[in-house]
Amino acid sequence: MRLRNIPGADEIIAASPYVIPEHADQKGRWRETFGNDQPIHIEIGMGKGKFLMTMAAQHPEINYIGIERYTSVLLRAVQKMEENPLRNLLFICMDAADLPEMFDRGEVDRIYLNFSDPWPKDRHARRRLPSREFLARYDQILRKDGWLEFKTDNRGLFDFALEELEPAGWKAQQVTYDLHNDPEMSAGNVMTEYEEKFSSKGNPICKYIIYR
Ligand code: SAM
Repeated sequence: MRLRNIPGADEIIAASPYVIPEHADQKGRWRETFGNDQPIHIEIGMGKGKFLMTMAAQHPEINYIGIERYTSVLLRAVQKMEENPLRNLLFICMDAADLPEMFDRGEVDRIYLNFSDPWPKDRHARRRLPSREFLARYDQILRKDGWLEFKTDNRGLFDFALEELEPAGWKAQQVTYDLHNDPEMSAGNVMTEYEEKFSSKGNPICKYIIYR
């Protein structure tokens, strides 16, 4: 995601009713916040929110939470929510490394990672969202029989992500190296902003669904 410092973004995010402050006493209270007992699905590294907004509109019976580190990126999602509010979608502006401080054990029913930053240098491997360090964090917040879905066009990152599963105690339920030509796994697929961009260039999209 291209980063520009957008003047006023921090203030708009801080004042938005669609963004839950990172240090709110929020852990274990998400169902109360949404005002219902619906399942909670989160996207980590949501960017400008295209995927989540489509999902939330298609599935009013699910509550969605988008997590994005940068206010300059989240701003666009907040503006879209102002134009077209969805009662089952909220955002948090935070580093995903702190997820266990925002969600109770098992509070999340499903996790989506879409086109996560590749962090290509070996010394930055721990920052990759499908790394074993992050899988350990997801393990804390995801319901026992919940699952995680990851899509990327970056084959190097995808191979790394697959290698991380066993040491982290996760198992692959489904894997494809060409999602858009996999009739079973592409059924109901909602494209993300990056997925549209890279698949239109001819890049095949890799996807796994994992559980533990
Ligand atoms: N998921 C969107 C898509 O598929 O179109 C955006 C993909 S973009 C390449 C990755 C996004 O993840 C960026 O907006 C980045 O700021 C965010 N991100 C990366 N690491 C993060 C972290 N540790 N915590 C929260 N967001 C993160």
